Amino acid sequence: MVYDNTNIFAKILAGELPCNKVGENSVALAFHDIYPAAPVHLIIIPKGSYSSYDDFTAHATDAEIIGFHQLVQQMARLMKLQDEGYRLITNHGKNASQTVAHFHMHLLGGKNLGGLLQEDMHLR
Ligand code: AMP
Repeated sequence: MVYDNTNIFAKILAGELPCNKVGENSVALAFHDIYPAAPVHLIIIPKGSYSSYDDFTAHATDAEIIGFHQLVQQMARLMKLQDEGYRLITNHGKNASQTVAHFHMHLLGGKNLGGLLQEDMHLR
């Protein structure tokens, strides 16, 4: 997936679009999802230009990867989710319905989130 710097998260990073920021460090930014799917729904993105999880893990520096995950963990604690639990989701590509082509992690919590894929529960 080639990086397209006109995506929404690139515009947020460039200061061209607002976001409801929750936290950041030198390599990553966290903000509220505009269409929350749970009581807590944050989006965490690297500040570097990576189109997806595959691109990020293949090309980011160790410092970027470590710093990104440190912010994810800090945001989960800031939202007081570490005891009750939370879910991390990243969608890579079309089969996962990735809609914004800048790597991002969803941090979801604040209620029982149910099974992994709701529509596939009958397969269990
Ligand atoms: P994905 O389907 O994994 O690519 O997720 C993209 C997420 O970005 C969705 O949950 C959207 O609700 C969210 N989103 C889209 N635009 C914005 C925005 N301007 N600010 C915050 N979240 C956004």
